[in-house]
Amino acid sequence: MTSPSVTASIITIGDELLIGQTIDTNSAFIAQELNKIGVWVRRRVAVGDVYDEIWNALDEESKQSDIIIITGGLGPTADDITKPLLCNYFGGKLVVNEEVLAHVKYLFEKIYRRPGPILERNLKQAEVPDVCTVLHNARGTAPGMLFNKDGRVYISLPGVPHEMKGLMTSEVIPRLLNEFRMPAIVHKTVFTAGQGESVIAELLKDFEPALPAHIKLAYLPNYGMVKLRLTAKGNSKAEVETELQPYFEKLQELVKEYLVTNEDEGLEIVVGKILKEKNKTMATAESCTGGYIAHLITSVAGSSAWYKGSVVSYDNTVKENLLGVQHETLMSAGAVSKETVIQMANGAVQTLKVDYALATSGIMGPGGGSEDKPVGTAWIAVASKEKTETLKLNLRFDRQRNIAMTAANALNFLRKFILSDA
Ligand code: AMP
Ligand code: MG
Repeated sequence: MTSPSVTASIITIGDELLIGQTIDTNSAFIAQELNKIGVWVRRRVAVGDVYDEIWNALDEESKQSDIIIITGGLGPTADDITKPLLCNYFGGKLVVNEEVLAHVKYLFEKIYRRPGPILERNLKQAEVPDVCTVLHNARGTAPGMLFNKDGRVYISLPGVPHEMKGLMTSEVIPRLLNEFRMPAIVHKTVFTAGQGESVIAELLKDFEPALPAHIKLAYLPNYGMVKLRLTAKGNSKAEVETELQPYFEKLQELVKEYLVTNEDEGLEIVVGKILKEKNKTMATAESCTGGYIAHLITSVAGSSAWYKGSVVSYDNTVKENLLGVQHETLMSAGAVSKETVIQMANGAVQTLKVDYALATSGIMGPGGGSEDKPVGTAWIAVASKEKTETLKLNLRFDRQRNIAMTAANALNFLRKFILSDA
């Protein structure tokens, strides 16, 4: 049995979103949070700082969804027009909210400690439509606002991501859970590497059509990996999970040759878990990835338990002086070569005193290619004290993506190396 959905629309406001100056990360966060509590996000709309456009978006989304969440346009500057607009839209008038006023004063006097009197435009942050419920913004001066109209809930949040997130978690989600009876939505994700989505789809050609109508399979290819997500909806989380489990197991079985993890997590987390379990350490010697792999690994909390550090050996002299790569090797085979990455990885095992080292060297573009080493040529090596393995990539993307692809392939190569290491 599937419950009817509670639906939501997200409206993000700001000219900067439309011209691509700011990437709309707010929608993604809000959608994830809503999804966790079983709200079906039906539409996401971005509009500029234009009165009529915001008004029309509200009208339009009111036809679509039970919950409408708006972010942006709540700042103290002239382009921020959301608050007076909402006041008109819901037929109220702006009044000073004493609690918000006290909070604004507290922030300016005790936290920001700005010299001089608080500006009028900052004090105006304490004005809210008298027809809204104020949502306390512990992280900033612009309060969130909640309006009820014709059985729908409208919520306006500041655009600053840190403030929006605080409000979503502490105010919005608890209120929505109170107001609506949500169906449970459960996602289960497996992560494969080493094959493109068409090969994976081939493995699942009988599985997918046999799924019940309310269980959906999604393919999410990204950087040489493919995520496969099963989504099901029902009355209770426990019920949906029980129903989904056999399909999830079958899915893992079908893709087992390429399976990396059955959690929604990145390769850097997977590699970290394996190293931690085996009580082993690693380091990186990065040329073409320039420390990007180090960044990925150290983004994982607790990574100091398995990760020792990196030599960002971008220049040949650093490869020689810090990693002990032979000058002759660099002269004869070149920096982007099997021979060089092998020496880089071995040098890192020695110098950084680790169980495993990962090395990269490649031509990421747009320039720097040659006939026998075109742009996109990358060499990866993994070494332990006992053995070294290499992998050559022939990438064909822009610089950023080539770097990301090299990093993803390198981490996966390392993962397989460690797993096969007795
Ligand atoms: P505002 O509430 O419109 O004054 O927005 C304040 C700041 O939040 C802007 O300068 C943007 O940098 C940021 N911001 C606004 N909307 C978004 C969004 N949808 N995603 C990410 N950042 C945003
Ligand atoms: Mg704005």
